[in-house]
Amino acid sequence: MQDPRQTPAVEIDALHKWYGTFHVLKGIDLRVAHGSRIVICGPSGSGKSTLIRCINGLEAYRQGTIRLDGTKLGEDAVQTALARRQTGMVFQNFNLFPHLSVLANCTLALRRVAGMARTEAEALARHYLEKVRIPEQASKYPAQLSGGQQQRVAIARALCMSPRLMLFDEPTSALDPEMIREVLDVMTELAHDGMTMICVTHEMGFAREVADAVVFMDRGAIVERAEPATFFSAPSHPRARDFLGTLL
Ligand code: ADP
Ligand code: MG
Repeated sequence: MQDPRQTPAVEIDALHKWYGTFHVLKGIDLRVAHGSRIVICGPSGSGKSTLIRCINGLEAYRQGTIRLDGTKLGEDAVQTALARRQTGMVFQNFNLFPHLSVLANCTLALRRVAGMARTEAEALARHYLEKVRIPEQASKYPAQLSGGQQQRVAIARALCMSPRLMLFDEPTSALDPEMIREVLDVMTELAHDGMTMICVTHEMGFAREVADAVVFMDRGAIVERAEPATFFSAPSHPRARDFLGTLL
């Protein structure tokens, strides 16, 4: 049997995906060790969201394999569902249920998917709302919160399911500047707790501080993977150099 500590949290081999005739992912290979933090960046349209959605099983793909903690997605329905349940996802636009309170947003999957009793689910939700520093917002509705608060609810909601892996797709790009920090602070704390994370973000300060590696995507391929210090000071790929220039 494989040593579980050697099994990567995420293992992607030769992943290809098409939207109709459009070849959107062109042979992605990516390994993410347990406890590591990967930042994915790259120009708009390069396939970052598609890749993240494939890892979370939200998108089908044509060729290649994705393994989460050794489980090959799509092979066995029960195992695939279990692997997906252990993956938390945070979207750019929060994707909270508008008709549910903050607390109900956080407890919904615990009750419906995990079958947890209400009091237990609510206690867990309150624990994570405290962790993202908005325990006082539990009975409000999403529309009554700022964007930064809504995104922290989305993070708390994901944490409620005890994920082994957290995926973030541009979690701060819909936020006003003063709210970006509060979300990044929560993400940084999560990283320091040892969470395995894949973050699509152009927040380069966060990448420098938190990431083990920066992955640069362009036109459906990973064209560079480097430690943040190397990536930001001396990106080796010309398109990465151009891209960093656009962020300044
Ligand atoms: P990124 O997140 O890097 O901006 P995406 O993964 O969202 O890139 O998109 C990659 C490419 O695939 C873009 O050209 C986009 O227009 C296209 N695309 C994304 N989603 C779909 C879809 N559902 N159907 C067809 N094309 C899509
Ligand atoms: Mg995207």
